[in-house]
Amino acid sequence: MPLKSLIINGFKSFADKTTIDFTTGVTGIVGPNGSGKSNITEAIRWVMGEQSAKSLRGSHMPDIIFAGSALREPLNRAEVTLIFDNRNHELTTDQTTVSVTRRLFRDGTSEFYLNQKSCRLRDISDLFLNAGMGKASFSIISQGRVEEIFNSKPEERRMIIEEVAGVYKYKQQKQQAEAELATANENLNRVADIYAELK
Ligand code: ATP
Repeated sequence: MPLKSLIINGFKSFADKTTIDFTTGVTGIVGPNGSGKSNITEAIRWVMGEQSAKSLRGSHMPDIIFAGSALREPLNRAEVTLIFDNRNHELTTDQTTVSVTRRLFRDGTSEFYLNQKSCRLRDISDLFLNAGMGKASFSIISQGRVEEIFNSKPEERRMIIEEVAGVYKYKQQKQQAEAELATANENLNRVADIYAELK
């Protein structure tokens, strides 16, 4: 499932709409310190469902919106789009080209789009999780992460192996099903109490 393009607009140092097209083979991005190389991988992680502002080097999510410079006013919105070639249908949808967009406004409101259609963050997260590219996956390895993996505890390393083996998504689904079951049981107990009172 090759990544075809990344379109960044208003995300961190990318005040202007910037399109990066990825051709086949390896793409290297070079530039001086502080020129925005890491911001590119962060933009990709953000569209794929990253929810932690801290892991995007901010304190709250609107910190990812272009904050202004000596020559430019701050912006009020950030938008990032990823376009995938999905001819092999690794992303579980009929579409052969898949675009995923995330938009954030300074007041904290967010919008998500799958092929230009409004959707929930959950739809995007599930799409990538089902393709083995959840946000805990190792499709993106940030600076310092290699060392972190080497130094991780056995349980943490097990999680990495489970993610790669495709087990992790079932664990998440199981957790969710268990939470729903617990809520359903609570509701049943409440109904039983009301029934007993009315008898
Ligand atoms: P290095 O080679 O040192 O790792 P880099 O090329 O990876 O650097 P980044 O860390 O991606 O650079 O970019 C840092 C730059 O992004 C800094 O100049 C910082 O001021 C700018 N930046 C970060 N957040 C914002 C924001 N919200 N608005 C404007 N600029 C931002």
